[in-house]
Amino acid sequence: KIMLPNFVYQAVKTLQEKGYAAWVVGGALRDYWLGLEAKDWDIATNAFPEEVMSLFERAIPTGLKFGTVTVMIEGHALEITTFRQEKDYTLKRKPGQVNFGVSLEEDFKRRDFTVNALAYDPVAQKWYDPYQVIPKLKCKLLEIKAVGNPIERFEEDPLRMLRAFYLMSRAGAVGAKIYWDKATLKAISSSLGKILRVSAERIREELTKILLGPNPDQCLRKMQQVGLLEVILPEVSRNQGVIQGNQSYKLDVFEHILAVVREISPSPHLRWTALLHDIGKFACRKEEEKNIHFYGHEKVSVELARLVLERLKFSREFREKVLHLISHHLFSYPTTPAGLRRFLRRVGPEAVEDLLELRRADILGTDPQADLSPLEEFSQRLKKIQQESLAFSLKNLAINGYDVMEHLNLSPGPAVGKALNYLLEKVLEDPSLNTREALLGELKRWATTHLQQK
Ligand code: ATP
Ligand code: MG
Repeated sequence: KIMLPNFVYQAVKTLQEKGYAAWVVGGALRDYWLGLEAKDWDIATNAFPEEVMSLFERAIPTGLKFGTVTVMIEGHALEITTFRQEKDYTLKRKPGQVNFGVSLEEDFKRRDFTVNALAYDPVAQKWYDPYQVIPKLKCKLLEIKAVGNPIERFEEDPLRMLRAFYLMSRAGAVGAKIYWDKATLKAISSSLGKILRVSAERIREELTKILLGPNPDQCLRKMQQVGLLEVILPEVSRNQGVIQGNQSYKLDVFEHILAVVREISPSPHLRWTALLHDIGKFACRKEEEKNIHFYGHEKVSVELARLVLERLKFSREFREKVLHLISHHLFSYPTTPAGLRRFLRRVGPEAVEDLLELRRADILGTDPQADLSPLEEFSQRLKKIQQESLAFSLKNLAINGYDVMEHLNLSPGPAVGKALNYLLEKVLEDPSLNTREALLGELKRWATTHLQQK
């Protein structure tokens, strides 16, 4: 017996009452037996997409080519997909051709992995488990085994190779044991390069799902072992075996990256930042008299991270957020109020929390026993300064651009901004300077050295 949300049950019932076959299918059922909460529910039916559209008041054809209609029931979105058969790609007969009007048995042959080829009829309370995966899932054992011939299945859709590691991630969420089917694993090893045929967007989404799980380090390590990481993210992969010298570092750069990814809180931009934050190290390693260092690696890391994020077609906003965090991740902890204010201005108040989280993960990813108190004290100092809300920006200065133009007899132009920024620096050093009088005095001094006399 499985507790389904009512809207899922209602959708199945609606289809069955019109005489169609309708089953709950897919990852939700795999997750149910593993003891995980379902992320989304999928329904499979022999009704054609147009028929599904006509049966539900609110229906959107979200993937008509593949027979998927999204219906809204009780405020929930639910995907209903028509049973289908995908023509044999390997024989090069019209690749991508889809046939509807087939049985559930036929539909299951095109599914990726045996643990995903599981169906439940909630009206008859009947399971369809052609690969006998339920007994294993119940014992917290997840077998990763392609449906049918793995080489052919990865040839049809190479993204499935990456989905294998997503399965690993789902199992890790409940500490289930993974068992890799030998032929499936071997087929991945021999099909690695094919992943490059898959669109950047699909790779990006599947990778992000893996990163957001509780054991991204294990999944990435296995991807590295198999060779898939080298194909998708060579910039990350190349850091394996790059030794970090100082006694405090016990892990090579690759393992350190994995530890930070695992440690950092699971939001997409933080997990991606952690994955990319040190990737330039392999190119910057220098050994000098028993001392190993990576001076300047953050610039290289930022450039490589930029390449990765562009290649995977992340949005501009996402890319900039991640690159900003990487380029500022090597900060030290200022103690003076002026230093703290400069820090806030340099990194921007909106990035502070993320940078502190990145540093926390970076420290624990280096040594899980490390003392976090210096970071915590720094964070307290920052909070205090932020609360005091002193002049962090030009807006808070006691004089403005018009004053500058008037007193220096300038017309609008870059010199005005330069002058204001100079004054801001001064005020950050010494907040007592933030009066009209004092700033006009500073302005005069600045003008004598920075403005050419006309
Ligand atoms: P999630 O936990 O993200 O929902 P999922 O395994 O349910 O993961 P979906 O993308 O929701 O994945 O797909 C639903 C079902 O469709 C899968 O369980 C699987 O049976 C099938 N499927 C998805 N992607 C593929 C694919 N690339 N090749 C074959 N079958 C697939
Ligand atoms: Mg799903």
